[in-house]
Amino acid sequence: MQYYECYSASYTSARGKFLAAAEESKGALRSFVHPDKTTPDGQPLAIDVARFGDPKAARQALFVSGTHGQEGFSGSAVQIGWMRAGGPSRLPKDLGVVLVHGLNPYGFAHFTRTTENNVDLNRNFIDRSAGAAPANPRYETLHEDLKIRDWTDEENARVDRAMAAFTEAHGRDALFDTLARGQYRHPDGLIFGGSDREWSNATLETIIQEMLSDAEKVAFIDWHTGIGDYGKPFFLCFNDAGGQLFARACDWWGKENVDGVRPHGMERPNYTGLVFQGVQRFLGNRQMCGAVIEFGTRGLGMRRVLRLDQWLRRQSDLEPDARATLQADMMDAFCPFDGQWRKDTLESGLKLTDQAIEGLAAW
Ligand SMILES: [Zn+2]
Repeated sequence: MQYYECYSASYTSARGKFLAAAEESKGALRSFVHPDKTTPDGQPLAIDVARFGDPKAARQALFVSGTHGQEGFSGSAVQIGWMRAGGPSRLPKDLGVVLVHGLNPYGFAHFTRTTENNVDLNRNFIDRSAGAAPANPRYETLHEDLKIRDWTDEENARVDRAMAAFTEAHGRDALFDTLARGQYRHPDGLIFGGSDREWSNATLETIIQEMLSDAEKVAFIDWHTGIGDYGKPFFLCFNDAGGQLFARACDWWGKENVDGVRPHGMERPNYTGLVFQGVQRFLGNRQMCGAVIEFGTRGLGMRRVLRLDQWLRRQSDLEPDARATLQADMMDAFCPFDGQWRKDTLESGLKLTDQAIEGLAAW
């Protein structure tokens, strides 16, 4: 199997490969078509779900790609690769696997991290019945300074100075937490978690209600890119540290990889509204164990690229060649074009998938 049979150059190709591989491996397919958005060239957008094994089994795996739009190329490749490499035919008897492809299909197709409403889907799963959205008071002090007005070296230097001054006052862990945890007040800002539930959020709840209704034990992976060493996996397990489920994730993937690891060498931010937390809530008192698994790209260089993604979203009359040039830089940061990175992450993703399934089978 060649990596370019699993990686794709567009959302529509990725979707086609996913559906073809699922049919080939006799998966049950279900597509949730976006009600009113399309790809840039007018093709449908959908969250596609393929399921394998025993749908009634108490043990179910749930593997998600494309929460952060353009990061989906990597997770999609792992899902496609797992099917093409015969993963479904190797499943133990009393277990099911649910692959959710392109959870944020708009971002995937339009090469951006956020949804059709410019919402960071991985901050959108807060419990809105629990009262006001979480506050991020320090973000309030930075919001205006972080917003880039023009894509120039001078403007980027100005934003960098604002972040350096904040770091001087509060430290680099506080800056990371402020930039990453999520905020719910500024639709034109970074990591905006939305003022309501996104279509993708409600659709994931439907998928869990309909397809994991008999599940008692769920293994979960949400595939991402951007944190960790180049081409290497990085684990963010949000089960309670010190609890039994956390220990189980350590057993599956190695304690040294899961426990006490520091994203970009810093304290882990107090992320709010993660898909991981949404899945836990949708499952109620059923047990779920797993992780957000990232593949490393440009380290802290991603900060500049997150700004670029947001700036590109706001440009309606950018000269097409300038847009294509900047978009290529941004895409290469989220999913490097480097064939070696793609081979390494695919190989690693397949191994981590198998480890989760083996762990689930033994649970
Ligand atoms: Zn991500």
